[in-house]
Amino acid sequence: MTPVVELDSVSFAYGDSVAVRDVSLTIEAGDFLGLVGPNGSGKTTLLHLMLGLHTPDEGTIRLFGRPVEEFDAGGRVGYVSQQATNRGGTMPVTVRECVTMGRFAHVGHGRLTEADRDAVANAMETVGIVNLADRLMTELSGGQKQRAYIARALASEADLLALDEPTVGVDAESRDAFYALLDGLNDEGITIVLIEHDIGVVTDRADHVACINTELFHHGDTESFVESDALEDAYGATGQVVHHHHP
Ligand code: ADP
Ligand code: MG
Repeated sequence: MTPVVELDSVSFAYGDSVAVRDVSLTIEAGDFLGLVGPNGSGKTTLLHLMLGLHTPDEGTIRLFGRPVEEFDAGGRVGYVSQQATNRGGTMPVTVRECVTMGRFAHVGHGRLTEADRDAVANAMETVGIVNLADRLMTELSGGQKQRAYIARALASEADLLALDEPTVGVDAESRDAFYALLDGLNDEGITIVLIEHDIGVVTDRADHVACINTELFHHGDTESFVESDALEDAYGATGQVVHHHHP
């Protein structure tokens, strides 16, 4: 099967400041990849590169087998950006309207079809927010907002879900339910890339781990990551303390 994401020797700098250096990695269809590394280690930048939101200075990126710059991400990628759940959201849109935005890639300039409405209803059902459909996004808690954003991604019938610290500002109970939801989606074949600062969550949930600090320190299955020194090496490079997770 065609890999979902292929990075080959990718580097990217903001001005003179290198954020990602010479990273090569492949994400296969159906992978649940945890992307870890200290603050400022280039995780968000790397995710943006994968999705074509930044252009690499060096190297090549393929998304679903095509050069990312030619790729019309359209409906195949669902992306929940960092802090999405923390922001109030300034537009007074309802939850249903927010989720419906996930269909725009399918709608083109026409009207919403029944299939679009069904996809929106199914997505809200999947994440358990049907009862919130007519509420304003600005009125939701962090956990509820996050579900709405996931529903929006699901409504697009994405094959790849890219989530950047999606549980910041979400209470512990909602977090657990959320990760159970992600597991279920992954079981159905959706590829997941998850940036998550809680290493314990990543080693519990992800089947692959990429550990970066500007450079890639490790990429492999979760077991190989746990057995490696990648975490200590990556965090040691910036002197941050590693918070081990004790379940
Ligand atoms: P992470 O997501 O791992 O915290 P980022 O990818 O956000 O890391 O940032 C990597 C590095 O790039 C950091 O040093 C950060 O300060 C820098 N950086 C991020 N975004 C920008 C930007 N828009 N302009 C300049 N520097 C940036
Ligand atoms: Mg980040």
